[in-house]
Amino acid sequence: MGGTFDPIHYGHLVTAEVARCEFNLDKVIFIPSGHPPHKKDYEVTAAEHRYQMTVLATASNPYFEVSRIEIDRPGLSYTVDTVKEYRRLWGPEPEIYFITGADAILEILHWKDVDILLDTCCFIAATRPGFPLARLEEVKPCLPQGAEGRIYLLEVPALAISSTDIRRRVREGKSIKYLLPEPVEEYIREQGLYRK
Ligand code: ATP
Ligand code: MG
Repeated sequence: MGGTFDPIHYGHLVTAEVARCEFNLDKVIFIPSGHPPHKKDYEVTAAEHRYQMTVLATASNPYFEVSRIEIDRPGLSYTVDTVKEYRRLWGPEPEIYFITGADAILEILHWKDVDILLDTCCFIAATRPGFPLARLEEVKPCLPQGAEGRIYLLEVPALAISSTDIRRRVREGKSIKYLLPEPVEEYIREQGLYRK
């Protein structure tokens, strides 16, 4: 599961856990992006902070891991490069599922090397409030041939939580309790993240 995780929240964690159970995954690897190509409209928090928060949030789940693969790779973070790296590492056998929210999957046609990407891994697109999965039907005809069957839809209990909203709450001095794990909340407070 790739993301900016700025900060990681229960929307990410629930999605990962439901995907793990529904698709019988051996593990879920959280991959904080190093330099996201699509998030230039605001200053993304330092990668080390986002990595630390992801480690704190996933520590209590033995099936969850965090990877530094994108953080330690120089240049922009493209999913295709990451998936190709895991494919090299693991060989052709294991199925790789890239877990995303429905909003992200709708953008997939604009991703780098989408044909190679869909050849290398499958996708799990999770429902997310405000992003109706029906819109995926509009994207499907534009996908490379055979790609449609490589994208699975996943219903997760709707959590209208977003990192943008959490950052705004902190900035405005509002509570973020119960939106994300307590150790992450503590880390944000200690490090003074997201204040003005
Ligand atoms: P931001 O508001 O900064 O964009 P975000 O909450 O969307 O943050 P990202 O790090 O951008 O979080 O998301 C990583 C992945 O998790 C994306 O594929 C996104 O669609 C998915 N995701 C984020 N929040 C949810 C949620 N509440 N339910 C389901 N999927 C989610
Ligand atoms: Mg997002």
